[in-house]
Amino acid sequence: MAVSPSAFDPAAETARYLAMLPPEVHAKATAYTQGGHWLLLWSAVVAAAVAWLILRSGLLVRLRNAVERRRRRPWLVALAVLPVALLLETLLTLPWNAYADWWRETAYNMTSQPFGEWLGEWALSGGIALVAMSLFYLAVYWLLRRAPRTWWLWASGVAGAFAVIALLLAPIYIAPLFNDYSPAPNGPVRDAVVAMAEANGIPSDKIYIYDGSKQSNRYTANVMGLFGSARINMSDTMFKAGADLGEIRAVVGHEMGHYARHDVLSRLGLVLALILAGFWLLDRLFEPAARLLGAANVRGIADPAGLPIFSLLLALIFLVATPLTNSLSRWAETGADNYSLRIAREPDGIAKALIQTVEYRAATPSLIEETLFYSHPSVSRRIRNAMEWKAKHPPAPARAAAPVSQP
Ligand SMILES: [Zn+2]
Repeated sequence: MAVSPSAFDPAAETARYLAMLPPEVHAKATAYTQGGHWLLLWSAVVAAAVAWLILRSGLLVRLRNAVERRRRRPWLVALAVLPVALLLETLLTLPWNAYADWWRETAYNMTSQPFGEWLGEWALSGGIALVAMSLFYLAVYWLLRRAPRTWWLWASGVAGAFAVIALLLAPIYIAPLFNDYSPAPNGPVRDAVVAMAEANGIPSDKIYIYDGSKQSNRYTANVMGLFGSARINMSDTMFKAGADLGEIRAVVGHEMGHYARHDVLSRLGLVLALILAGFWLLDRLFEPAARLLGAANVRGIADPAGLPIFSLLLALIFLVATPLTNSLSRWAETGADNYSLRIAREPDGIAKALIQTVEYRAATPSLIEETLFYSHPSVSRRIRNAMEWKAKHPPAPARAAAPVSQP
């Protein structure tokens, strides 16, 4: 079927794709997505309430004093107080997390996971985070004692080291604790993926399918890991939704785009720049914040009993930076879409896949909403981009179907 550029109208094609979903589906998606923006704000309110509660209880100060009465070793105080502070934060935010991550997701039919199973995974990930964050904060408080004026600089370096280690280890040791990852089974999907990988210099043994439907009904794929551990994962929800080969090629092309563009690294760079700025700000804001929260018995920023103030400020700084991190993310997503169009040449595959994501990312936000809250360009913008590409690249007679059917 030849499409002449003059007869093909990208705007009309975009509207046709969006009209594939009935208005009530779009309305529900808007309610879900806009409610999600409010969750960001409420999370900050919950974080503030939790910090206030822990400080008011005086538990950390009493623990600090008890350890000091036995031995006046600052590292021993940190070793005792920091894990307890982190454990209290984790436990006190459980009701909120259960609402936001499980109850609300269930209400919107975004997950079919039983609560007990969700709770088990929450405990597992919380336990891992508790160990990792305890080690991280032990290093940070050591720096706070050793270099009171320049700690924020060194602590950012420590944060970078922790982030790199976490990214390297996550696909190999962490992700398999929650899901089964396996290479695509022999068949047309595997053939298509391998052909695309080989044509673009990406190791084809780094493409996995995982049982993402266990936690979420979202139609999704991702790139995980860093350097040697980097890999592309496709959720089985894609196959349950009946994705055709064009969609799979388009989605894998998009993820290969992230892989080839090293988007994990650029995101890491931005996060580390934010942490550096955040720690510097924290150094200046700690005292006023402590006064505001009535933490009279906390002796200053280097006192581990002040950890709730420390982590609250860090959370607020990251909240304020959300539009910045989202903007970098949208830029990377556009790059990955264009990479997919270039190597997979499946504009309709991209459009069909994107329509499946509307239920959790409403398709037509206002520009201000998209700028502030969207980590991906809106589906309407992305489909329009694919259709503009299609208008400029009418399909050749010997269409790229050949690599798909090769064994
Ligand atoms: Zn992406």
